[in-house]
Amino acid sequence: MYNAIAYSAASATAPLGPATIARRDLTEHDVQIEILFCGICHSDLHSARNEWSEFSPTAYPIVPGHEIVGRITKVGSAVTKFRTGDLAAVGCMVDSDRTCNACKDGIEQFCPNAILTYNSPDVHLGSVTYGGYSESIVVDEHFVLRVPSNLDPASAAPLLCAGITTYSPLRHWGVGKGKKVGVVGIGGLGHVGVKLAHALGAHVVAFTTSADKKDDALRLGADEVVVSRNANEMEKHAGSFNFILDTVSATHDINSYLALLARDGTLTLVGAPPKPLAVAAFALIGGRHSLSGSSIGGIAETQEMLDFCGEHNITADVEVIPIQKVNEAYERLLKSDVKYRFSIDMASLRSE
Ligand code: NAP
Ligand code: ZN
Repeated sequence: MYNAIAYSAASATAPLGPATIARRDLTEHDVQIEILFCGICHSDLHSARNEWSEFSPTAYPIVPGHEIVGRITKVGSAVTKFRTGDLAAVGCMVDSDRTCNACKDGIEQFCPNAILTYNSPDVHLGSVTYGGYSESIVVDEHFVLRVPSNLDPASAAPLLCAGITTYSPLRHWGVGKGKKVGVVGIGGLGHVGVKLAHALGAHVVAFTTSADKKDDALRLGADEVVVSRNANEMEKHAGSFNFILDTVSATHDINSYLALLARDGTLTLVGAPPKPLAVAAFALIGGRHSLSGSSIGGIAETQEMLDFCGEHNITADVEVIPIQKVNEAYERLLKSDVKYRFSIDMASLRSE
């Protein structure tokens, strides 16, 4: 065991602040990573403030962060994938049981015993897992990803959650050439979703409540932008979408999006508002519409996504901040005031 500096919150109402946490000594399959950058996902905020208390209550103190890029500083004796000095990344999971059907199928995110990067039981230390708002982390190499060398580390970090969470459903539901795809909410997930759907060749429509994001959405790769508060603009797209990806983090009306689906179209929720959303039966019945959900992606698919992003030069648009600004960043996230992902420069933590 060794000590690492981190930023943690002591309760649902406490701000994040500096703390010392324990990390395990390396087992033979582990690598130790010096964290360079960690993105701020809205899930970090939901978790730090225990907003998902009904589904996954938060154990305090919490160290959030699951969009990690860093440099390998040590490797265990049986490690084969990495060497000291390699650039590497960690996303939302750090382990799973590796024996269940989901693990065998390479979709570890659906393993009933998946260990998330933070707020999961830590089987090594008997406590809880601590995430990427930290100077270093120790992870089994199976859950560590390679970052294509042409991608900037600060803006590649958000791919580890925002990237895979949008890539996986776009692939699963066959988004590509000839398909009309909507992305709802142009935040961290949504802006990467627009870039990926565009790169996959689809006709992409971005839906935003923020009229001032219109030009950006077009620059990110949207073919059209709809300000969703404008009923006339929404109406024009009625019954026309093959697929809609909803990334909204708060309560909102999904029936107005279900109405935009073509026959047999699917709306997939990846946004995880804490409160249930109301669904009108008639919004599904009329066009044999499907409403579904999707959770991050497996390790193999996460590597596939990173390689795809390497080939297409896709990263997040980031605002790099020092860790000392994390509480301010959370407040701005709540106001949809980030273009389009905060990425924490972890060098700032070492100056604590
Ligand atoms: P984010 O950066 O805060 O983006 C959310 C976007 O939703 C905002 O930028 C805003 O876009 C829109 N929005 C916010 N409040 C709204 C409201 N009241 N009504 C309508 N639109 C609203 O958050 P994120 O990091 O992308 O995460 C989005 C959600 O996905 C969170 O709930 C997060 O926990 C969840 N998530 C799920 C998974 C998964 O595996 N399923 C993985 C990661 C994250 P506009 O300004 O364009 O309207
Ligand atoms: Zn996330």
